[in-house]
Amino acid sequence: MPEGNEIHRWAERHAAAFAGKQVSADGPQGRFTDAAVIHGRKLARVMAVGKHLGYDFGKDRILHVHLGLQGDFTEGSGPLPEVRGALRLRMWNAQAVKRAAEPGVSKRHGWYSEDDGSDNLAPEKIAWVELRGPMDCSIYTQEMWEGLLKRLGPDPLNGDGPEKAIAKIQKSRKPIGALLMDQTVAAGVGNIYRAELLFRARLNPFTPGNEVDEKLIRSIWKDACVLMKAGMVDRRIITTKASDRPHKKEQALKEEAHYVYRRQGRSCFVCGTKILTRVMVGRNLFWCPTCQPAGDEVK
Ligand SMILES: [Zn+2]
Repeated sequence: MPEGNEIHRWAERHAAAFAGKQVSADGPQGRFTDAAVIHGRKLARVMAVGKHLGYDFGKDRILHVHLGLQGDFTEGSGPLPEVRGALRLRMWNAQAVKRAAEPGVSKRHGWYSEDDGSDNLAPEKIAWVELRGPMDCSIYTQEMWEGLLKRLGPDPLNGDGPEKAIAKIQKSRKPIGALLMDQTVAAGVGNIYRAELLFRARLNPFTPGNEVDEKLIRSIWKDACVLMKAGMVDRRIITTKASDRPHKKEQALKEEAHYVYRRQGRSCFVCGTKILTRVMVGRNLFWCPTCQPAGDEVK
């Protein structure tokens, strides 16, 4: 599932392409029936919070998109492509689609781990976007959007401080690995960042929230701000420090991008212990039992 870094990246790109302009929209698949509500209107801005996108076409005309597990955008320049597959939504600039295509490709989420940010279409050259397979694509009223903001925890990519997250974590006996995935605790942190942030903090994922020191939560938050921001440049998430990678002097190889995420059964880059995995909150959790020992050193 795309995490906050990708969502904020889409918001930036789509704002560069469409904000301040009239946007055309339709729903070829037939499941998004409210395209007429936004079609031909000026897009004021694109908002991102956690894993949610809000395209602001004016009061009570906010297009809400949550990609969920399967959703993804395709973007392009030049004329609109033929409708293919389960195309939930298309948005385009009527002038821009009359121009010739520009160089650059649109990379799918499935390629995220190989996307180093090269060959992407410059955001201001985007003439159209297609959305397939989202968990939600619907029109929100202002009230619905504000209700969503109230439910969500602070978002490291929106410059929010960790105070609300600290309060929730310290009140809970749930494991910190579960709390970090809870969007009402921290918005935008997903499965990769949860695992990697905990490793970088050398914190055992099963530690109850109320046993985690406030200072440690603050440093995890700081780390999240840096890592997630870096993850907006391209779609690849790199969490390993060069000094910890077996190939120290090169750019991070695909298999050396993460410390623990999807590295179960392989050796920890730091201590050599085999990385473990277990399902937590419906998703696979990964950790190093030596670098992230249970029961102590949570201070
Ligand atoms: Zn280790």
